[in-house]
Amino acid sequence: MGNVILIHGGVGSKGRVKENLDCILGKCKSDNPLESVVKSVVLLEDDPRFNAGTGSVIRIDGSIEMDAAVAIPGDFGAVINIKEVRNPVLVARDVMEKTPHIAIAGEGAVKFARRMGFENYNPETERTRENFIKMKEALLNAEEGDDRYAIMRKLIKEGIVEEPHDTVGAVARINGKFAAAVSTGGASPMMSGRVGDVPLIGAGIYCGEKGAVVATGIGEEIAKRLLCYRIYSRIGETKLSKILEEEIAYFNGKTAGAIAVSADEVASTSNGVMPTDQLEF
Ligand code: ASP
Repeated sequence: MGNVILIHGGVGSKGRVKENLDCILGKCKSDNPLESVVKSVVLLEDDPRFNAGTGSVIRIDGSIEMDAAVAIPGDFGAVINIKEVRNPVLVARDVMEKTPHIAIAGEGAVKFARRMGFENYNPETERTRENFIKMKEALLNAEEGDDRYAIMRKLIKEGIVEEPHDTVGAVARINGKFAAAVSTGGASPMMSGRVGDVPLIGAGIYCGEKGAVVATGIGEEIAKRLLCYRIYSRIGETKLSKILEEEIAYFNGKTAGAIAVSADEVASTSNGVMPTDQLEF
């Protein structure tokens, strides 16, 4: 099979970004799968309608902390809760290529980014500020129950949390080689310091000799299931689309989606609207 790049704009994004995905892929063709997935994610991070880079969701305490990761067979790099950079995915790539580490978090990630020449950048937009205000209202009005808002509301009441999904991802197979990249502002509502699935190898991203997989949805659920490694480890067992359907069915309505490429297949599945696009060349 030929070369392919597959991108998603986050499960639960109501498809509002589909038209934008279409014009991204043409710019991401290259001979190098890592180059292609990183370029795709950079363009998606720069689009303020996505919850990654510019437009990242604001947390309960008013801060913006972003996660991003890149993976190729045998190597991985991530930034966790990084602040004030324009393209977290580029910093994640530098972690993989220029340090002996697989992940750098928080202040250390910001310091590393500055040393690598990434300038101070505020990813907040008018939309994320408005959503922040709505999120705070929803929290204040949440009824008792076990959904995210109700649990956060309870934590707020108990004084554990102070008062107050459109991740992006790409996988590619180019000249028989694979790569994956993913970036997010997180799953609202969330505390400062919360870490989701995106920077956890095998949870929100995995890439090996058999293929590449990235996920989107409620990071806690995805990580507990080690979703991407689980999908990856099943490649070859049956059709890729069937594997994805079975794995997403497990979430039983808790928001989740995934995209994947193998040596001869491409597949995407989600239990909510998830805009995707793919380019074969
Ligand atoms: N998986 C991301 C997280 O929980 C959010 C998303 O995919 O929209 O951080």
